[in-house]
Amino acid sequence: MSDNRVVQGRMVTPVTLAELVEDGDVMDAEAIEDADRDCPDCGGDVISVGYMPSVTEFVTGYKCQDCDWATTDRDD
Ligand SMILES: [Zn+2]
Repeated sequence: MSDNRVVQGRMVTPVTLAELVEDGDVMDAEAIEDADRDCPDCGGDVISVGYMPSVTEFVTGYKCQDCDWATTDRDD
């Protein structure tokens, strides 16, 4: 998978983006997509990534491309 994106000035792969959102290691991640939402902190563009923090769990993570804001569908 090679759809890298720039987040906070740094190039991320799906796995490294998922690790930013999770704040830890992840097993696998799907392609990065544009999320249909704006960052609640800075109004910047939000991207999403589906990932597996463990073999039994699948989470969709959201991350602002411009600031530290991140969340997952687990938090809703
Ligand atoms: Zn932001």
